Amino acid sequence: MTAQIAVAPIQDLIRQQRTLFGTGQTKPAEFRIAQLQKLKQAIVSYRDAIVQAVKEDLGRPPFEAYFEIATVSEINLALKQLKSWLKPRRVRTSIDQFPSSAWVQPEPLGVALIIGPWNYPFQLMISPLVGAIAAGNCAILKPSEHAPKTAAVVAELIQSAFEPNYIAVVQGGVEVSQRLLAEKYDRIFFTGGTAIGRIVMQAAAKHLTPVTLELGGKSPCIVDTDIQLEHTARRIAWGKFINAGQTCIAPDYLLVDRRIKGELVEAIAQCIRDFYGDNPADSPDYGRIVNQRHFSRLAAFLDSGEIAIGGQTDPGSRYIAPTVLDNVSWDSSVMQEEIFGPILPVLDYGDLDEAIALVNDRPKPLALYFFSQDRDKQAKVLESTSSGGVCINDTVMHVGVAGLPFGGVGDSGIGSYHDKASFDTFSHYKSVLKKGFWLDLKWRYAPYTEAGLKQIKRIVTGS
Ligand code: NAD
Repeated sequence: MTAQIAVAPIQDLIRQQRTLFGTGQTKPAEFRIAQLQKLKQAIVSYRDAIVQAVKEDLGRPPFEAYFEIATVSEINLALKQLKSWLKPRRVRTSIDQFPSSAWVQPEPLGVALIIGPWNYPFQLMISPLVGAIAAGNCAILKPSEHAPKTAAVVAELIQSAFEPNYIAVVQGGVEVSQRLLAEKYDRIFFTGGTAIGRIVMQAAAKHLTPVTLELGGKSPCIVDTDIQLEHTARRIAWGKFINAGQTCIAPDYLLVDRRIKGELVEAIAQCIRDFYGDNPADSPDYGRIVNQRHFSRLAAFLDSGEIAIGGQTDPGSRYIAPTVLDNVSWDSSVMQEEIFGPILPVLDYGDLDEAIALVNDRPKPLALYFFSQDRDKQAKVLESTSSGGVCINDTVMHVGVAGLPFGGVGDSGIGSYHDKASFDTFSHYKSVLKKGFWLDLKWRYAPYTEAGLKQIKRIVTGS
């Protein structure tokens, strides 16, 4: 759905939100708590509509559609911890500041713009919103036009719970997104591809708006020989093929110790049969590709290697079978961009140093997976690679650990969120120094004296 939104309504909306924010009404803890509760209730009452919309947009089975509703647990965490997040943090002051006290206190930023992708179209809109509300902001949400049913549910749900001068949804495609981006906000929180992230950051730079960019990239999955083969295969196949591979932290490609490559590929093929049967097209548990453009893009990757399993496609239903591609070269087309679909290329390495060098030759990924029971190797991978997050001996599951901030590094993103990190993202930590009047040491004022010089030397150099 591409709604034609004129510039004036967007500017009006921002103005109205700024006016509300200016009254201070969004700041008290009680207000934030009440709004989070409202949001939670709205999600619970729209639960079935959300699951249905995600099914219609992405062919997602209800089990996987429920991942979207996991935002309720984020709200619960925020409700539980908000008062402690709001507490000022004391900072010690030195003797030359005497008499004084100092602290850091969080304050809301103002009006936030949250732009989301289509792959987890509900969760990736609402999860940052939890942080924005908890931190005391107003927000405008722009869901993806490629998941139109979910975008409509997001709009209805938000409208049912909030006035637009507090939280509003603007629906539309690229043009609407660009019109929104032309305005000034106090934070832009963007989830999407790296190329669009650059566009967002350029637009934000014009107004010096701070950005959080939750981007994508090719997340490697390194597999050593010291593993439990069956568990490894199952965890890789699950992480790769949920939502038909359209997950930002899906393992993009496998980098396997040459000595176990054959066994691992066979075990993954077996897992695919176990999960989805002999014909995954008939499985109620397997999703579809979001649109024709992505279907064609993905289908073109299928000749990047030898098909070990899968490879079947149906343009009519935008079906691509869970596919493992063996004997893939680094120069092939499937290795040039984030796959974001159910195709798993398998590459191999001789020793771990080689695998690490191959990963380090490429842009920093959002996630890095390492399967090995060897603690020294685990430590080596952690110390010698850089990625948004790491998960050892599993895939995707690190995103579910509430206390772990989620975000990228380098090309995979800027900033992070989830739990307190979400609150931090939408807050400014204001530094405060408070002085007393009962003493005013004169040596810092002109005309400067020898004693004052001695004093400043002592403070600056410590002697
Ligand atoms: P996308 O970047 O194409 O679109 C995201 C949003 O940006 C949409 O709302 C879209 O309307 C808007 N947009 C698109 N082109 C634009 C332009 N030229 N100017 C302004 N706005 C524009 O991403 P997508 O295809 O929806 O999602 C897939 C990508 O998102 C993948 O790269 C994936 O890895 C990434 N992703 C990252 C995370 C994360 O948490 N890091 C989560 C999900 C998806």
